[in-house]
Parts: sequence; structure tokens; C-alpha cells
Amino acid sequence: MALERTLSIIKPDATKRNLTGKIVAKFEDAGLRVVASKRIKMTRAQAEGFYAVHKDRPFYGELVEQMLAGPVVVQVLEGENAILKNREIMGATNPANAAPGTIRKEFALSVGENSVHGSDAPETAAEEIKFFFTADEIVG
Ligand code: ADP
Ligand code: MG
Repeated sequence: MALERTLSIIKPDATKRNLTGKIVAKFEDAGLRVVASKRIKMTRAQAEGFYAVHKDRPFYGELVEQMLAGPVVVQVLEGENAILKNREIMGATNPANAAPGTIRKEFALSVGENSVHGSDAPETAAEEIKFFFTADEIVG
């Protein structure tokens, strides 16, 4: 087991429906600790840059617009195997395939408006945390 940190984003579809607290409770109940948190309105440059890895996918334009559709809550979650654990708490990308009890099963509206982002590997977690947070904003 390894103590890890991962980046989480509560997406606009969820912040608009007042689901921030219910989603954070899922992380905390599963043993993940919120060690950094801020509510922001992403700029277009931030949304495009954050999702640049998907720029050739057909849904890229829609994805960027969805991230700009309202405020997001960006957080660093810390815990044992936090990266994989967060992916399990989130559930499958498409809520139709998400397991019972997961955030996406309970709250997602569609494969695009699926309420949360979570880093998928140690390298992307490190990059994504740096994208939004300076070291002094993370308090473990
Ligand atoms: P995940 O968020 O589970 O890591 P991906 O990295 O594959 O999923 O995709 C990033 C985001 O792009 C998804 O969370 C979702 O919002 C959106 N997305 C993925 N696939 C589709 C699709 N087929 N149609 C519309 N939006 C999609
Ligand atoms: Mg992904």
C-alpha cells in the first residue's frame, strides 16, 4: 500500500445541482482525505489545456464547453492507493456502466456530464495536481 495523492474535479453539472457536499462525503467515507480544495470558474485556456490529451477525440469541444458551464471544485485527495480508490468511488465513465453506490451511478446525467474527474495514473495525478495547486496550497 502506498500513500498517494490524486486530483479530483467536481464538474459543473454537479456543482449546479448542489451535489458538492454529497460527493465529498463519498470520498471521506471511503477514507480519502481532502488536503486541498478550491471552487473556481475555469478559464477557456484552463479547460482546453487540462483536457488537451483528448483534443483529437470527437467529444473534445463538448467536453470543454461542459467544464465552462459553471463553477468546478478542484481538490487534492490523499490516502492509501488514492488514485485507484478514487476511480472506484467515481465509477465507470459512462453512468450506464457504473456500479451501484458510485458517484457516477448516483449522480451523473450522461457520459459527458458525469459529475467528476479523477486522475488515472501516478504521472497524470502529479501533473494534474500541479496544474491547479501550488505546494503551499496543499496541507496534509
Ligand atoms: P474518465 O473521466 O472516466 O477518465 P475519459 O478520460 O475517457 O474518462 O474522458 C474524459 C471525459 O470526457 C469524461 O469524463 C467525459 O466527461 C467525457 N467523455 C468521455 N467519453 C465521452 C463520450 N463518448 N461522449 C461524450 N463525452 C465523453
Ligand atoms: Mg480520464
